[in-house]
Amino acid sequence: MQIGTKVLPWQGKFQTSLNFFCFHVGLSNSPPMRSSRSFVVDFALKVFAPSFLAATAIALFLLYLINGIFEEANRLDRAFAQRTAESVVLTLRGDAARAAETGSTGIGGASFLVDKSGRTLDATVNGQRSGLTASDYFGRNLATLLEGGDPLFLLSGSDIALAAGEPRGENRLIAATRITADRLRTLSRQFALDNLRFDVPGEDGVAILSALGSAVATLRWSDRLPGDIARQKYRHIVTAALTGFMFVVGLLIYMSWRGFKDAHESKARAIAASVTDGLTGLPNRRSVLALMGAALRQTCGEPALSVLYANLDGFKEVNDAYGREIGDRLLKATAAGIAFLTQGRHVAGRCGGDEFAVLFEGHDHRHDALRFATHVNDFLAAPMVFDGRVASVSASIGIAHADGASADAEELLRRADIAMYAAKENGRNRMQVYEPALEFQREDNRSIASELRGAIDQRRLGVVYQPIVDARTRRITGVEALVRWPFESDRTITPDIFIPIAEEYGLIESLGFFVLCEACAAAKHWDGITLSVNASPVQFMNPAFAELVQRALDETGFDPMHLEIEVTEGVIIDNAQRTQAIIDQLHKMRVSVVLDDFGTGYSSIGHLRRFKFDKLKLDRSMVQDILHKPASLRLVQGTIAMADALGLRVTAEGIEDESQIAVLRLAGCSQFQGYLFSRPVDAARIARLLNPPETALAEWPSRSVKF
Ligand code: C2E
Ligand code: CA
Ligand code: CA
Repeated sequence: MQIGTKVLPWQGKFQTSLNFFCFHVGLSNSPPMRSSRSFVVDFALKVFAPSFLAATAIALFLLYLINGIFEEANRLDRAFAQRTAESVVLTLRGDAARAAETGSTGIGGASFLVDKSGRTLDATVNGQRSGLTASDYFGRNLATLLEGGDPLFLLSGSDIALAAGEPRGENRLIAATRITADRLRTLSRQFALDNLRFDVPGEDGVAILSALGSAVATLRWSDRLPGDIARQKYRHIVTAALTGFMFVVGLLIYMSWRGFKDAHESKARAIAASVTDGLTGLPNRRSVLALMGAALRQTCGEPALSVLYANLDGFKEVNDAYGREIGDRLLKATAAGIAFLTQGRHVAGRCGGDEFAVLFEGHDHRHDALRFATHVNDFLAAPMVFDGRVASVSASIGIAHADGASADAEELLRRADIAMYAAKENGRNRMQVYEPALEFQREDNRSIASELRGAIDQRRLGVVYQPIVDARTRRITGVEALVRWPFESDRTITPDIFIPIAEEYGLIESLGFFVLCEACAAAKHWDGITLSVNASPVQFMNPAFAELVQRALDETGFDPMHLEIEVTEGVIIDNAQRTQAIIDQLHKMRVSVVLDDFGTGYSSIGHLRRFKFDKLKLDRSMVQDILHKPASLRLVQGTIAMADALGLRVTAEGIEDESQIAVLRLAGCSQFQGYLFSRPVDAARIARLLNPPETALAEWPSRSVKF
């Protein structure tokens, strides 16, 4: 089975559900679909709208400014033209004054010589002497004209005329000149005022007022409007400039969009990375906790959530033996398998290292979690092969169901973790549901560990020795060193309890080394006796194990030929290659290796063939059954025969009954160990048992020997 490298069909679906969860628990700002939408809105609000509005405002402002300049040009020109037109009026007045001075009034003009009283002395109208009086011609204006002052505008028929009076001796000449179209055209050219004309009185232009102040006409002209001309001229340039400006703004907005998108994507990636485990792609611990929190918050009443916490047994060994790459592939494969088993219905996450969590919601959550644990164990039961290397792991699984008191994600996960530890302590590859008693056990273990640390440091541990006798002569040929912890209180803590604790709390190395040194130092004085010392898998797998054994031998001066190291099959299961390497190292040092507890757990004849053990110890459970279970007897007989064929000696443990001896001897067992011969006793007692050495143990009242 090589699923580690496969991309499984459910992964996409799972990822979607992860994203969905992330959104719901606030780990991610939004799920992917909503995310892109909100991202567009975000961009529109934060970048596009402000940039677009600012650019439009700038463009409008520039247009307004340019327009203002044009309008100002128009206005200035108009003001200038106004003043120019006023000069035109002055010029016309000058014309009239000159006409009065010279008497030459031109076509349509008239001149009247009047005395002081206003009586007309002479009249010329349109170049002909006339009988008209000045009073007839000028009407009420005459009085003003007689007084002198500025020339006056008057209406002469449909034309505008100007009248002015000049003294002529005692009298006065009053002349009226008609402002002809020609004159206006000349003035139009002279003063650069287009289409200069008299118009009906009105708002703009220069008002032409009569002597009485009423508007006679308005002098008008056509504005040149240079601003409008410039506007026309530069229209295309301004349009092109504004288009260019908006294009640049558009380009900047587009570039911001790209930058914004990149930033958004990297943010999204960072969020995804912060909630997913990089190796397996599963949600990480943080996200598992958040998902649990969300699930717990959603439930009203009794929370419907169970959490399964799985730790791989033997992962470390695979990692150590085959390297990290295979270790990673194993984790990926396990993650893939677990996620596959969820069938998209439950959330699976990796909480770090070789620990996985699966969450179960809904009214069947308890049952689902329990069933899932079996599926995980079944799935892991088949070894995985990576590049031809077999990695076999199992899982210790803890399950915690949410209840009122554990309505907190951290607490629930902690409980599942405690249950998982209990499963591990109870022998791995199993499942344990959390119960409060485990807390005490855990607490108890912790205090045992701390006391044990003190006992090791202060060398308060003891070592006892259980004789191993020759099956034929019943003479002591060896002893097994067994650690003891003399406790001050009434409580006795047996090795079965404190050895696993020492393993878990990292004390086994120092404990093991202490026993080894102590036993070697004692056994050195027992001539020809083989010393068996137990080594836990944790010790045995330590790369420095052989070195430590050598150190103990050097320090005590014990003969390596007489030393046997007992290991259990757990060592092989967890790490086959390493086991053989360490056996080889020990053999080089001439230390023997014994396979202990054969017949329990994973016992396999295959292991006997494959590994170069020197001796085999049949476990007490196997030995106990031989008298009343024919199948057990046959198994023992077969095992011994096989061991014999492989050149292995066999020791039977736990012999309590004389009748067991006969059967086992017949089967070919070469050594016995058990209460029938002796319980484990202290070194002094062993020394006495060996002296005289020819004493056969079976004759002794061994049951009375107590430590
Ligand atoms: P083990 O290696 O299988 O050791 C044999 C155990 O069986 C000893 O228990 C011994 O007292 C007991 N035993 C021997 N003969 C009989 C018998 O006839 N009947 C019964 N009922 N029991 C018998 P102990 O000393 O309690 O040790 C238990 C286990 O603790 C050992 O099993 C071994 O796995 C571990 N252990 C003990 N000392 C050490 C040590 O120094 N280092 C390590 N790593 N493990 C140790
Ligand atoms: Ca043993
Ligand atoms: Ca044993």
